[in-house]
Amino acid sequence: MRKIPVTTVMAALLLVFIGTAAPARDDGDRTGSIKSNLPADRADYGGWSGRDGASGHPLMTAVAIRQAAAQFHDCLRRLAPLVARRGVSYAAYQRMTARLTPDLRIMDLLDSQPEFTKAVWDYLDVLVTDERIAAGQRLLAKYRHVFDAAEKVYGVDRYVITAIWGVETNYGTIAGDRPVLRSTATLACVGRRQRYFRDEFVAAVDILNRGDVRPERFVGSWAGAFGPTQFMPTAFQRYAVDFDHDGHRDVIDSMPDLIASTANNLKKAGWRSGETWGYEVVVPANFNFMLAEHRRTMTVADWERYGIVRAGGKAFPRPGDKAFLLVPAGIQGPGFLMLPNFRAIMRYNPAEAYALAIGHLADRLRGGGAFVQHWPRYERVLTRDERLELQQLLERHGFDVGEPDGRLGAKTREALRDFQARIGRVPDGFASAGVLERLRRR
Ligand code: CA
Repeated sequence: MRKIPVTTVMAALLLVFIGTAAPARDDGDRTGSIKSNLPADRADYGGWSGRDGASGHPLMTAVAIRQAAAQFHDCLRRLAPLVARRGVSYAAYQRMTARLTPDLRIMDLLDSQPEFTKAVWDYLDVLVTDERIAAGQRLLAKYRHVFDAAEKVYGVDRYVITAIWGVETNYGTIAGDRPVLRSTATLACVGRRQRYFRDEFVAAVDILNRGDVRPERFVGSWAGAFGPTQFMPTAFQRYAVDFDHDGHRDVIDSMPDLIASTANNLKKAGWRSGETWGYEVVVPANFNFMLAEHRRTMTVADWERYGIVRAGGKAFPRPGDKAFLLVPAGIQGPGFLMLPNFRAIMRYNPAEAYALAIGHLADRLRGGGAFVQHWPRYERVLTRDERLELQQLLERHGFDVGEPDGRLGAKTREALRDFQARIGRVPDGFASAGVLERLRRR
């Protein structure tokens, strides 16, 4: 339901500390008419660092952010026609936005590029714990009848709904407390994602205007995701349903609405009834890791011909299912054959580690066991600078990585595999500290 992975609460928790601000001068304010709306007091800037954003985007410089903040209400006025198209009266829109100020702290969060990122096994350790499994099972028991009814209507497995609930917000306990209207208004008028967030802001206005959600409860992550399963406002508009028939679609406080709306979202994202999301598999050392890409789909039977077997020795129940192979930690960690339902989860939350956590937590809630194979816990995840260095070194040695950006995408993985093959290592494309060291020594 989210289009950018950074909206997750966990990602927000991972942010490195961003130091306190230099005083913000309101030097973008030249029109005079803005003053009443935007006090110069910097407390109103919501703890913004006052610094240029790390992305280097022209709309993320401190000057551009101050300027956009000073013109915040002009921007909101320009959005009025979009809001009117949703049937919101100008008076209602005025009431909602008259006292709104931008939350500029969000600009720091939008452009944060944490130096250290977690390994996939660390995410799983945090997100799939015995406590979280027990808490999920309590919810499954408590809302059993709701899940029965929702499964009947949407055909989406109750365990995956509960797992989303658990992974996104630890069952609603960390759903965020920033007013959604203010966050989306800020992002629609300030910074580098205005076009994307304009729709989210208009949807947020519409949601409030319809009275689906109580205004004081309409709070969430800095990017505007709200409720225990973190609906974005536009996703809410597309997928939310009034499952308890009280006239409101309330994915925050009505558990029937929450459960059914999340099920409806997954169904619309392509969830296939009665199928699982994927299997843990063992990948042979001589495997051609070039095949391990999201785009490369084959039947489970085809994968078996390449030597892939199910971890734990059981047979695959449906050899005709189409799957892609994910090997998040290279040859030293477990592999996964991912079925269409994994893609449905990825549409809900596009971060691979989260989608894997959701699938795994769902299995554990169902009574399944931990993964059979071990993660290479002795490996550490490269820092941002190291990832950039890795790309630059690969480039220097004649491997095409595209534009070095510190992110390890498909192209970098491919270059890395070529390099690994050349030095006689298993070409799994896993960016370890060891392979970086080998590159440095060349
Ligand atoms: Ca309702």
